[in-house]
Amino acid sequence: MAEFTMELNDEQKEVRDWLHGFAADVIRPAASEWDEREETPWPVIQEAAKLGIYSLDFYAQQFFDPTGLGIPMVMEELFWGDAGIALSIVGTGLAAVGVLANGTEEQIGTWVPQMYGDANDVKVAAFCSSEPDAGSDVAAMRTRAVYDEAKDEWVLNGTKTWATNGGIANVHVVVASVDPELGSKGHASFIVPPDTEGLSQGQKFKKHGIRASHTAEVVLENVRVPGHCLLGGKDKLDERLARAREKAKKGGERVKNAAMATFEASRPAVGAMAVGTARAAYEEALEYAKTREQFGRPIIDNQGVAFQLADMATQVDAARLLVWRASWMAVTGKKFEKAEGSMSKLYASETAKKVTAQAIQILGGNGYTREYPVERMHRDAAIYTIFEGTSEIQRLVIARTLSGLPIR
Ligand SMILES: Cc1cc2nc3c(=O)[nH]c(=O)nc-3n(C[C@H](O)[C@H](O)[C@H](O)COP(=O)(O)OP(=O)(O)OC[C@H]3O[C@@H](n4cnc5c(N)ncnc54)[C@H](O)[C@@H]3O)c2cc1C
Repeated sequence: MAEFTMELNDEQKEVRDWLHGFAADVIRPAASEWDEREETPWPVIQEAAKLGIYSLDFYAQQFFDPTGLGIPMVMEELFWGDAGIALSIVGTGLAAVGVLANGTEEQIGTWVPQMYGDANDVKVAAFCSSEPDAGSDVAAMRTRAVYDEAKDEWVLNGTKTWATNGGIANVHVVVASVDPELGSKGHASFIVPPDTEGLSQGQKFKKHGIRASHTAEVVLENVRVPGHCLLGGKDKLDERLARAREKAKKGGERVKNAAMATFEASRPAVGAMAVGTARAAYEEALEYAKTREQFGRPIIDNQGVAFQLADMATQVDAARLLVWRASWMAVTGKKFEKAEGSMSKLYASETAKKVTAQAIQILGGNGYTREYPVERMHRDAAIYTIFEGTSEIQRLVIARTLSGLPIR
């Protein structure tokens, strides 16, 4: 088992520098254009695919890095470049993780490559869980999956919302209820293969930030998928449902809200995205403060500005340390006794919001314009306290884990 380390090894440093080069030379210069266009930056994804940055192999390698620092390092560098474009690049990975976590080897081998396509014909994937009335409260999900035994098919009906890459994805991973009485314990995940009839894109959202990332509703109308599209397979689902029904009958375990109980291991990755945006804004502010002169001297000569930068740098580093600790815990199988995954996401996302706002302040009028990137970074940063569990939900998870009480 890898010891916790705060230093990247030589190989990791090489990968980090390579990613940083891509972020600086390809992503950052394209950021403003795709933010204004509010469209998926296909040429940038294709470029990433050509270099091997957008590929299953690359993410699998980082995902299984025994130090746990692979994924946070990738996220920080790409999101340092630009959050909207970076989410377009890594969004597929979020859907792929859904298959890696629940799918059989055969399902992983069949569907994950189709999520990425290849460098000449890149594809993206979507993970569809949230619904109009089921955001934080995942157990309130209404999308139903009903088994048609005669045809060995599942029939999906419902409306998903806020799906990253929803409707433009080659492969959609859809979470649906197979037994509403069991709440989140009655949920199962399904692959909806390319060009399946009945799946359509609803509204595409015009957003505050991460505008290069496509976010849309996904409508499912009598979507029929073969039995083998149930992730994990029917036998495993039946066993799991039987156990859950037994427990529910005994009145034993409270049916937990999935949004609160799961994702502990995946949340540090979102924290790392936030660290990337926060670091980018801090660096812009530092550079600006050293060169912008007022009252005959650089503004950084004033403690009022320099101390803000000192706080910003400290918070960015603290956030990274929490993220690295949680990622290391996840990969080495440590128990999250204090909800350390949620802690890292909470702190890093709040830091990104704060630091990007301070960066605007330090750049003054320029910071408020789209001529400088900190304005975009601040809009982008607002997403981190919302998706993958809001800050309030993170606090709830942490407080419940620490106290053992069903705090509401
Ligand atoms: C750009 C974007 C991309 C997204 N991508 C995806 C995706 O790819 N797939 C997907 O499935 N989902 C996705 N989401 C959905 C996202 O995960 C949800 O928006 C999030 O879980 C919050 O749900 P909600 O928006 O319904 O807010 P709500 O749950 O309605 O929350 C509203 C407010 O109430 C607070 N609140 C709710 N319950 C409690 C409580 N018990 N205690 C205290 N406060 C509470 C929240 O913290 C929040 O401040 C995305 C969202 C956005 C905006």
